[in-house]
Formats: sequence, C-alpha cells, structure tokens
Amino acid sequence: MSNSPSPKLAGAVFCNSASQGDGGKVDCRGVFTSFLAWSYPTSLRSWHAILTLHDLPAGTTSISVAISQGQGKKTTLAAADIQRGKPDLGSVINLPLRYRFKSEGFYFVHFTIVGTRRTLKVPLKVNTMPWPRFSRKQIEFLKENPAVPHSLRMNIQCSDCSHSYTLEECVLPDSELPGGVLPFPEAGSFECESCGHVLQVRDIQGQLRNSIKNAVRQAMKGGK
Ligand SMILES: [Zn+2]
Repeated sequence: MSNSPSPKLAGAVFCNSASQGDGGKVDCRGVFTSFLAWSYPTSLRSWHAILTLHDLPAGTTSISVAISQGQGKKTTLAAADIQRGKPDLGSVINLPLRYRFKSEGFYFVHFTIVGTRRTLKVPLKVNTMPWPRFSRKQIEFLKENPAVPHSLRMNIQCSDCSHSYTLEECVLPDSELPGGVLPFPEAGSFECESCGHVLQVRDIQGQLRNSIKNAVRQAMKGGK
C-alpha cells in the first residue's frame, strides 16, 4: 500500500465573483445555478467554479474543466495545476471560467483529476428570458425622473482583433449619443469596423435593458 493519499473531488458551486481569502479559503459572491439569456449565442459569460478536493498528495495534481450540453460533446474550459509541498487533507480551488452558450437548456460542467477516472459533473441551466419591454407608465416615469438611469453603456471588444467599442442602450426616444458611443444595432449583430468580424450583441443588449427595467421597477415602488 502506498502512503500517498489519492485525491478526491468533493464538490463544486458556481458564483459571479471570487477571491482567495484567509487560510486557503475562498470568498465568493453571487452563488447561482442558472444563467439568464436574452439571445443566442450569448455574450461571453464569465463566472467562477469553486471546487473542493480531499486528500491531495504532495506534488502536482492537475484538474481539467469541460462543459457539455446535456450528454453532448465536451468543450474544455480550463486546466489548473495544484501544487502541494506536503499532503493536504482538504483544499478549495477557485477556477475562473468563460463560455459563450449557443442555446438554452441543461449543461454539465465536468471536473476531472487528470490521469484518473475521477470526474465530478455539476449541472448548470441556461434559461431564455423574454425581451425586456417598457410600459408607457415606465417610460413616463423615466422621463419625469432623470435621476433614474434610462440608458446604460457597455464596452465590447472584437473577439478577433480586440478593437473595442462602446455601445449604449437607451429606452427613451430621441436621445443624442456623444461621439464614440454607438447605439445597439437593430438586427443584433454588429460588424467590426476594423476587421469585419460580426459580433452578436443582442444578449448584452437584453442584459442592459433588464437592468434598466429592474431599476425602474424599484424606483417606482420606492416612489409610492
Ligand atoms: Zn475586429
């Protein structure tokens, strides 16, 4: 029998942001089980997986992370090497992940200890949201309350040439945009001026509209 322990995957959760805390712990914010999407492909979604492991041996333990839609083909998301000077009974690992979802439904994130058959499969759901529309009342409220934001901007980078753009979503008609700021394209796709690559921006536009709508709802509730 070997004295070296064999590593085990204990569990994983997903969250919006995370950082290394004290004593090997990880501080995470915004734990979730599903993504909300307004169009496909979605914008490049970034999140963190917090993975717990038991019985890490001294030396290097390699982890690979992949995603599949249902039982479909796996796409690699990340790889990480965990180094330990001596055996470690328990560890918490923060893995930043990024993925562009092509359709709604059930996904699995697969965590594997490289060189073993040990895999942990964690479900992740992508839910399609209705397009955020504004009622006449909400529009009137926004016109009368300039302190409540009626527009939001987002910096978008071309995935091919890294050229960056600022797009603005405004729910009040006839607002003038300053130079360098562009409105979201009607069709949801945006051609990079510098390399011609077509960027899908409708999902981001939906996210911004949804934020504006939530803020209006909150403000209307608070005002009464
Ligand atoms: Zn480009």
